[in-house]
Amino acid sequence: MILGTLAKGRELMSFKQFKLDTTILKAVEKCGYSKPTAIQVKAIPQVLAGRDLIASAQTGTGKTAAFMLPILQRLSVLKKGRKGAPRALVLSPTRELADQVTEATRTYGRFMNLRSAVILGGVSYGSQFKALSRPIDLVVGTPGRLIDHLQRGTLDLSRLEILVLDEADRMLDMGFKRDVEKITAAASKDRQTLLFTATFDRSMAQLASRLLKDPVRIDVAGRNMTLDAIDQQIYVTDNLAHKKRLLRYMASDRGVTKAIIFSATKRSAEALARELKGLGHRAAALHGDMSQAARNRTMKAMRNGMIRLLVATDVAARGLDVTGISHVINFDLPQGTQDYVHRIGRTGRAGAEGTAVSFASGADDALQLQRIERFIGMKISREEIPGLEPSRSLPAPVKNVRSFRPRRQKRHFSMGLKKKSSTGSSRTGRRIRIK
Ligand code: AMP
Repeated sequence: MILGTLAKGRELMSFKQFKLDTTILKAVEKCGYSKPTAIQVKAIPQVLAGRDLIASAQTGTGKTAAFMLPILQRLSVLKKGRKGAPRALVLSPTRELADQVTEATRTYGRFMNLRSAVILGGVSYGSQFKALSRPIDLVVGTPGRLIDHLQRGTLDLSRLEILVLDEADRMLDMGFKRDVEKITAAASKDRQTLLFTATFDRSMAQLASRLLKDPVRIDVAGRNMTLDAIDQQIYVTDNLAHKKRLLRYMASDRGVTKAIIFSATKRSAEALARELKGLGHRAAALHGDMSQAARNRTMKAMRNGMIRLLVATDVAARGLDVTGISHVINFDLPQGTQDYVHRIGRTGRAGAEGTAVSFASGADDALQLQRIERFIGMKISREEIPGLEPSRSLPAPVKNVRSFRPRRQKRHFSMGLKKKSSTGSSRTGRRIRIK
């Protein structure tokens, strides 16, 4: 009896339970995935059953395969796509995320005869016109260029069977709400719609109620499930010079095998990357002012290990899927609490362990930290590096101080020290080395 239950339990954890086409199963096997993740277990059967879906899941949970595998299953049977009229469309907020979804399509669809295209802004139209002038099964793209093709009549969504809104909260944050509505208005009314989002607030609920029909809601183990594998640490800092000393120390630590360092502005990302390079580290910047080609080159170099330290801004790093990130370093705290979760989700992916380090100083950071800790529902441990301790503790958060950093934050590369304070301390005094 017990044996029978165990065997059944094991079977339930296998990809075979989804009854996917053998070509898809073979591709999944090649990826080395031993069992589906929580979001995959919950989402795949619902998508296969044709249901609309709202899935609260962050990157790192295996959400891409959760929608891509059932999409490929659908594309593997029945009719073929027509000229410029895909059967499936994945909408992504950023080019990087779209590239990753495309990569996932290639990976999971490697044994299928799939015709797909990636439609992004900032690149030439030529190859996109060409791809859309042929029968096509799947399109992955960012909103702006997709609308452009819709207006030119080169993209036809009237035969769309499945629409995925990936990282829908990002899409709203980035001001794509109207674009998303334009695209959905052009899409077949009979389509199935899947909405993936890390957070779910009122504006998301409104969007979902307009776009989805009787959706199934899936929430994978609360909002901080990806945080379990991440060792989160806070280092209280005195000023910019102190932050840089800490960063230099961490950059020299051999345990930091691949790191993303988040900085508040494009300019500071550039400057920090330059400094790290000057110290002999394999470092580079990634930000929105770089050309798409330069960003692609940097991402590739990061993936293949040519770059060890990537200094990035939030927008540029959104959805970035580089495996083996050992550390995320928040040189500057993020503006929003959700950004914190997005940032640190770059490490500790798919079962691997990771460390997320945040520098904090002054009353603004203290308040922001308090918000972050409330949002993730846990206290982050305060750490120090011997010889690099702060000269003062973090002030107690003050409610009425400015809640968010200004967009342009020049103090990093000018000089301004933050105002000293001697109130309050949340340090544990535990000394831990970055390893
Ligand atoms: P995502 O949440 O889609 O960004 O996926 C995060 C990472 O998890 C990707 O690098 C995937 O290759 C990987 N992944 C997806 N599904 C599984 C699985 N069942 N087992 C192990 N890794 C997976």
